[in-house]
Amino acid sequence: NSVFAKVTQGPPDAILGITEAFKTDSFAEKINLGVGAYRDDAGKPYVLPSVKEAELRLVQQMLDKEYAGITGVPAFTKLAATLAYSPESKAITEDRLMITQSISGTGALRIGGEFLARWYPHGKTIYVPSPTWANHGAVFRDSGLEVKSYRYYDQKTISLDIDGLLDDLSSIPKKSMVLLHACAHNPTGVDPTPDQWKMIAEVMKKNELFPFFDMAYQGFASGDADKDAFALRYFVEQDFELVLAQSFAKNMGLYGERVGAFSLVTASPEEKKRVDSQIKIVVRPLYSNPPVHGARIASEIMGDEKLNAQWLGEVKGMADRIIAMRSLLRENLEKLGSSRSWTHITSQIGMFCYSGLTPEQVDDLRFKHSVYLTRDGRISMAGVTTKNVTRLAESIYAVTE
Ligand code: PMP
Repeated sequence: NSVFAKVTQGPPDAILGITEAFKTDSFAEKINLGVGAYRDDAGKPYVLPSVKEAELRLVQQMLDKEYAGITGVPAFTKLAATLAYSPESKAITEDRLMITQSISGTGALRIGGEFLARWYPHGKTIYVPSPTWANHGAVFRDSGLEVKSYRYYDQKTISLDIDGLLDDLSSIPKKSMVLLHACAHNPTGVDPTPDQWKMIAEVMKKNELFPFFDMAYQGFASGDADKDAFALRYFVEQDFELVLAQSFAKNMGLYGERVGAFSLVTASPEEKKRVDSQIKIVVRPLYSNPPVHGARIASEIMGDEKLNAQWLGEVKGMADRIIAMRSLLRENLEKLGSSRSWTHITSQIGMFCYSGLTPEQVDDLRFKHSVYLTRDGRISMAGVTTKNVTRLAESIYAVTE
């Protein structure tokens, strides 16, 4: 008998499985709406011109390949912090912000999970929205936290269940940890309004809940990085201690470079030092120190006023293309005379559209129309282009009427 004879076959990743199926489809006009990465209007991956420029500059500098420290490239983490919190944030000006580079957003979530499992002094349960990014549960459970959910999305109205959300956050055990998507909620594309964020903050204050922000799409949601950071900054203003996972995968298109940061707003500079020492103890046995190249690209961009402005313009360009595709898709469905309301396509924000399609309709799209998406009805808007939007609308119309 072999050593691993008892290893059971695990289920395939739901999203990667879609891409595999898409690849084997020979129909020329097939459409992949599963990918969680930006595509241009030709359906191609997009390397931002600001990233290309930064890479050219880095090559010319002929930098060495020495190890970064355990918490990464200092120029990068400093700039990542100001991007998220703003340079005027009191967490930064009062020197209370601990930040470490991470292996993109996933790694930041994991560092946070590991740290909180060791040091959060109250119940070790984190509440995540229902639904949430499929990996949240796995990351936090593997970190040693218990994962439960709070109401977020109302299937009937295809919008935010604000009453259910506030109700749940007021009735879960005091001092629980709560995961919040800072903007562009994945998979629903449904975000609270600024006023609703204020209500959420109020309830969380009252119930002494601890916020864990996941910001994987800053700038990508509205096209404005400051606007997308509203919730995070508001919570800091309201004197919450909190943690944040940041990713540069989407907003800089640095997916495979794995650039991110984990930060913690502490109560004092002295507390920040102690937290920093423990974060290093979490990171060291995981991967010793993070890769430098992507962090150098990001800091080259954010550290240069002109290049930074160019980058923010390019982020807006990506957000605007997605917003334009939302309008086109909705318009096309309405033109076909669909009897349903498709207003949610344009009211939702970010990379994804939670279409309200049933698993059966998703299967019909796949097998009858060669349109591929996850069975929860999540459409990656990045896969929609001016060339395929008409056929996409016709296919959706065909399976829903
Ligand atoms: N959080 C959310 C909500 C996401 O959608 C993603 C990317 N799909 C991530 C975190 C992390 O992605 P990455 O590790 O590539 O930065």
